[in-house]
Amino acid sequence: MDDAKGLAIAFEEAKISYDEGGIPIGAALIAADGTVLGRGHNMRMQLGNPILHGETSALQNAGRLPATSYKGATMYTTLSPCDMCTGACLLYDISRVVIGENKTFLGGDGYLKQRGVEVVVLDDEACRSLMEKFIEEKPDAWNEDIGVEERVYSKEGIKRPSS
Ligand SMILES: [Zn+2]
Repeated sequence: MDDAKGLAIAFEEAKISYDEGGIPIGAALIAADGTVLGRGHNMRMQLGNPILHGETSALQNAGRLPATSYKGATMYTTLSPCDMCTGACLLYDISRVVIGENKTFLGGDGYLKQRGVEVVVLDDEACRSLMEKFIEEKPDAWNEDIGVEERVYSKEGIKRPSS
């Protein structure tokens, strides 16, 4: 699948979450042949669930799959994946991770690459502005989602690049 099309599905999920009053991060797991295996969005606010992020929701909605289904698959996500979602992608040997943006938060991009995952950052303006808008509106909800008290750009202490 064309990466812009895959990201568009993830972004649709992010918008659904925003409209529900939730954290606007969405994801879609798409097989090598273009089949959408699962899609989902962050459910912290909607369900009071701290482990359903965009990527883990997409994995949950994809259900039980054999290892062969993840091979060659791409995880599209609107935001750079946190440590938990990075780990989930590595656990299932997902071949590619396509990221909408990593300017509001930088997660496991580097570690994914180190582990042999193809990482593509599309630097998408729509993903970034939706996330910035949410963080401005509900800073506490965002900090809570990544387990911090005050906003950080990276949990590894990496400084935010000037834009
Ligand atoms: Zn996550």
